[in-house]
Order: sequence, then C-alpha cells, then structure tokens
Amino acid sequence: MINIAIDGPSGAGKGVVSDKLAKLLNLYHLDTGAIYRAIGLYCYDNGINGFSEEEVLKVLDKINIKIEFVNNVQYTYLNDECVNHRIRSSIASDYSSRSSALKCVRDKVRELQQDFAKNNNVVMEGRDITTEILPHTKYKFYLDASPEVRANRRLQDLLEKGENVTFEQVLNDINERDYRDTHREFGKLQLTKDAFYINTDNYNIDEVVAIIYSKINERV
Ligand code: C5P
Repeated sequence: MINIAIDGPSGAGKGVVSDKLAKLLNLYHLDTGAIYRAIGLYCYDNGINGFSEEEVLKVLDKINIKIEFVNNVQYTYLNDECVNHRIRSSIASDYSSRSSALKCVRDKVRELQQDFAKNNNVVMEGRDITTEILPHTKYKFYLDASPEVRANRRLQDLLEKGENVTFEQVLNDINERDYRDTHREFGKLQLTKDAFYINTDNYNIDEVVAIIYSKINERV
C-alpha cells in the first residue's frame, strides 16, 4: 500500500493540498480532523464539556464513526448522521480541539485510521500521522504557515459560511488550538527529522503539491 502522511497545524493548507495530491496520484485522501470533529460534535450535542478522560470514556462506545467515499469525496457519519457540514462550525473546532487531547479518544481514532491505511492507498493528514499513525511510511510531510496567514485563510472560510467572526477572534482561536495541539500528552503535533518541512506562506496550492510530488518521486 502507498501511505502518504501529512501533518501540520490548522489552516496550513493540508486539506486542499492533500485533496489535489490524492487526485494526482489516484489515492484516497483521508481527512482525520473530520473524525475528531465528529467526536467533538457528539460531545457538544450531548452536553459533554468537562473533557475529562472519565467523562468521555463513559460515552465512547455510543460514538460510532463511519467514513465513506463517493467520487473521492469523504463523507463522515456520526451515528448514521452525515455530519460533513456540521463539523465545519467553530463549535466543532473548539470541541474537537479539546476532546482530541484525551487518550481514549485518540486510541479509538487510531484504530480506524490504521485499518484504513492497511487496506487502502491513501494521503492521510492530521497532527500525529507522521509520528503515531503511520510511523513507518517513507513519505512524511509537515506543512506549516504563520499564524497570521492561517488565520486569514480560516477567516475567509468562516465568512463564506456566514459565520460572524473577526480576524482577531480567528487568530486567537488558532493560537489556542496550536497550543493545545503541541502541548498535550498524547499524539501531539511535532516535526520529526524524517518529515519534509514546507512553509506554505509564500506558495500557492499547486506549488506545494508540486514540491510534495517531486519529493515522493525521489523517495520511491
Ligand atoms: O484538522 P482539523 O482542524 O479539522 O482538526 C480538528 C481538531 O482535531 C484539531 O484542532 C486537532 O486538535 C484535532 N486533530 C488531532 N489529530 C489529528 C487531526 C485532528 O488531534 N490527526
């Protein structure tokens, strides 16, 4: 199987880049953030907001996540409800960022991701794909961008979706989520020596895809 691992902070462009790369190489693109977002949404829907291991462990068996692909588009189901739209809200961002720090949540999601990679050629993007989920793949990338550039990209997305937010709020949210992603005990975001680092501040999507594509060819 061909497994390509891409990590990086939110708003670094992992989603769009992975999508294009997957199409180019005829692989699936698994957005693992969508899985954490669906779990965050379950917590929100069910008034779970203490984010303790104990509290979430109690309901973990009731959270059934299913991923389907139709024409290369990922559909994420939370207990049989397609949550593709709902997971993109600011609430889902916040709840996923908090619940994803829990070991029980990461263990559950790890299994789903590793099963997928075992059976499919995939570009998988997230936070701990290069380190924990696909540690043995030779195709590892870390996409980065400055917080301001990422906040601007996220702001455009949210405004297009009709959310009423300011640049300062989005930047603040990005900084908080970065902190949580890089300081948690399990599955934290980190750049490893064997991952190829790309700062996307001054590149467009196609340029980043081209860089990754050429690196993959070098490592085949
Ligand atoms: O990538 P995205 O912003 O959609 O991810 C939502 C949240 O899920 C992130 O804030 C991050 O905390 C968490 N996440 C994670 N590990 C992954 C993917 C996402 O902890 N592999």
